[in-house]
Amino acid sequence: MAKGLSVKGLKVAYGNIEAVHGVSFEVNEGEIVTLIGANGAGKSTILRAVSGMIPVKEGTVILNGTEITSWPSHQITGLGMAHVPEGRGIFTRLTVLENLLVGAFKRKDKKEIDGDLDYVLGLFPRLNERKKQLAGTLSGGEQQMLAVGRALMTGADILLLDEPSMGLAPVLVESIFNICIDIAEAGKTILLVEQNAAMALAIADRGYVLETGSIAIHGDAEYLSKHPDVLNAYLGGA
Ligand code: ATP
Repeated sequence: MAKGLSVKGLKVAYGNIEAVHGVSFEVNEGEIVTLIGANGAGKSTILRAVSGMIPVKEGTVILNGTEITSWPSHQITGLGMAHVPEGRGIFTRLTVLENLLVGAFKRKDKKEIDGDLDYVLGLFPRLNERKKQLAGTLSGGEQQMLAVGRALMTGADILLLDEPSMGLAPVLVESIFNICIDIAEAGKTILLVEQNAAMALAIADRGYVLETGSIAIHGDAEYLSKHPDVLNAYLGGA
């Protein structure tokens, strides 16, 4: 069974308006793959449809060899994929530790949960220091880390990260991207949606450039970061 994510001919519509027009891409096990594109290009829509948050109009989504097109999100999580949406969605009135454990609520493997908790608290020392604090009192960067940590606590081997750098100070942007590298080195697979194309291409293996709901260019991150159209449109010129 091939591990990873394979999306073919994906179309997604909001009412009568089609936002994604037949997009195909692959994310292989252990890769960091980025979807880049301007505001409104359809990046978040693709993540939402792949993770079952909104319906797929046409096309197929295959996760770890199983077709999961239009499965409800909780079943998809059970198969090893977790989505960290834009805006984070943490529980502000629960503590940091409680938020992390919510991620694992469906799991029964106590030993593995404890192991993942140690891993997450080691990955994010700030969360470890603040584990008894209410999540609502964390800074924006810490909340972002908590959202990623909670996704890891589901036991997922594929993470869909929607704009993890959004609204963060530059030093935190760098640290969240470094953490993505650490997570991939631990054997996880990452599909990263970003407007910060330079940072995304710096850590990704491969990327897809999305323009108004279709893939315009794709290839290795190095190829994309030198591509004239990518340089002009997303990297502030050559
Ligand atoms: P951003 O970085 O701004 O989130 P994006 O590339 O993720 O941009 P999407 O949010 O996926 O783009 O939006 C793709 C298109 O779908 C846009 O034209 C947007 O206006 C439209 N759209 C997004 N969400 C909805 C919604 N809930 N209802 C109707 N249209 C939507």
